[in-house]
Amino acid sequence: MIKGIAASAGVSVSKVFKLQHPVLNIEKRDADSETEVKKLQDAVVKTQNDITAIKEQAVGRLAEEDLAIFDAHLMVTQDPEFVGQIEEMIKNDNVNADFAADQVGNMFIGMFESMDDPYFRERAADIKDVAYRLKCHILGLNIPDLTRINEEVVIVAEDLTPSDTAQLDRRFVKGFATEIGGRTSHSAIMARSLEIPAIVGAGSILDQCEHGDEIVLDALEGVIIFKPTEEQKTEYAAKAEAFAEHRRSLLELKDAETITKDGHKVELAGNIGTPKDVEGVNNNGGEAVGLYRTEFLYMDASELPNEEDQFEAYKSVLENMAPGRVVVRTLDIGGDKELSYLKFPHEMNPFLGYRAIRLCLDRKDIFRVQIRALLRASVYGKLSIMFPMIATIQEFRDAKAVVEEEKKNLSKEGVAFSDDIELGMMVEIPAAAILADQFAKEADFFSIGTNDLIQYSMAADRMNEKVSYLYQPYNPSILRLVKMTIAGAHKEGKWCGMCGEMAGDERAIPLLLGLGLDEFSMSASSILEARRIIRDLSFAEMQALTEQALNCSTTEEVLTLLDNAIK
Ligand code: PEP
Ligand code: MG
Repeated sequence: MIKGIAASAGVSVSKVFKLQHPVLNIEKRDADSETEVKKLQDAVVKTQNDITAIKEQAVGRLAEEDLAIFDAHLMVTQDPEFVGQIEEMIKNDNVNADFAADQVGNMFIGMFESMDDPYFRERAADIKDVAYRLKCHILGLNIPDLTRINEEVVIVAEDLTPSDTAQLDRRFVKGFATEIGGRTSHSAIMARSLEIPAIVGAGSILDQCEHGDEIVLDALEGVIIFKPTEEQKTEYAAKAEAFAEHRRSLLELKDAETITKDGHKVELAGNIGTPKDVEGVNNNGGEAVGLYRTEFLYMDASELPNEEDQFEAYKSVLENMAPGRVVVRTLDIGGDKELSYLKFPHEMNPFLGYRAIRLCLDRKDIFRVQIRALLRASVYGKLSIMFPMIATIQEFRDAKAVVEEEKKNLSKEGVAFSDDIELGMMVEIPAAAILADQFAKEADFFSIGTNDLIQYSMAADRMNEKVSYLYQPYNPSILRLVKMTIAGAHKEGKWCGMCGEMAGDERAIPLLLGLGLDEFSMSASSILEARRIIRDLSFAEMQALTEQALNCSTTEEVLTLLDNAIK
């Protein structure tokens, strides 16, 4: 039995799909050219079959323009220059096929990477992908591929990138377990919005299983069992069924009000990463979208998304959520979120570096495109714009000024936009929480980002398991920062929400309610449970409880207080 961090609730009994890319050891050897040319030709056919199969699986799930990438890959395998040069090298130098493919591949990659035209530079990535596949086939190595999964599996990997996670097909992927990561790493957040059970930070699990092994994934307790016994399989299958039954019973609360026993109302909203996630928010009775992380729009693309593409995405979210509010967060890139096509100098401390609003205010060319797309989409629903990582009043003013300028530009062009767009900010840097009363004079609303607020308050990298004990949402220091933020907003008559993971944490909800939080935004799958909890509580009692919690000195004291008060 292996313990990891339960990151997305659920239980699965299934088979292992090992997502491990083979590491290639390629060395030059003398070899018989006839045999090697045959190996190359077979590998080319296998590579082409792979690509065609992946494309077929992806039809209907990926957009037309994203499917075009597979045609580009096929073209590389059919390019007589590319394959022809490998064959020539095998024959002329009497070397092994993998070595020749490596040499010629690298030469082509280098050539494309050095071209001025961005279109050709991007093709280098296609060649890299195809050359890797080709070499694996020459060497007889298996390449795992998420889009080709067509039976029920649990994925076991070192980590999943956000775009890996976005590609998961819920019909087949019954869960995943990763070696690294924490509750707030992005693969964990995506798993919750896709409602796929997940365990992260489980240590070296790849060494402990084989592709196709049976596996129990208990993402309620954070337990992984490889090769379970028959009894264990029966026990966990029953647990999975009980969990599914509990989920079904919560659906009765889908249209119920989010109101405490003594009549205090709050709003329950969903966090989304892509326009299609809105469906999950609606299906789980979400009243609004409290955080739309637009960076995925940028991360899943091969170049900066243009105004039109962004407009379509925002319009779709606004329309599907209307009349409910949609809080769209402007680009929050940097930290652990990179863009392959936008390279910035290496930083010693990326989480403290050039990211989010800092980057957007420096690269207004990028920022303006997003703001224009948002303003144009605003007529299709109830839009609120939120800036991430605000540390100073000046940053907020500068960001707001860009919105005002783009409104003027659109007016001149005769393009319509709503006259009722709230402009708010994430409170995720301690400086902003401490100065919340001043910020509230200028911002229309706050949303507390506890994932970063805890990281920065405790000076503990949220991706580093070694210091994960410092991720302490219940530490009185964090509760006091949350209290300051809410009080600052209320003093100026503004609303305060929370979109960090703490908002959906069942044990934290009573405290946040008592602190006066107005809006709770969380993974869609947590909304109904949160509603059940809130409807069972008394606001007055939670206010009194919170006063006591604020005067505790440790996380443990707060948790004991909570567990004694709430059964
Ligand atoms: C946060 O920091 O709490 C937050 C919601 O933003 P992200 O997790 O995307 O950094
Ligand atoms: Mg954040």
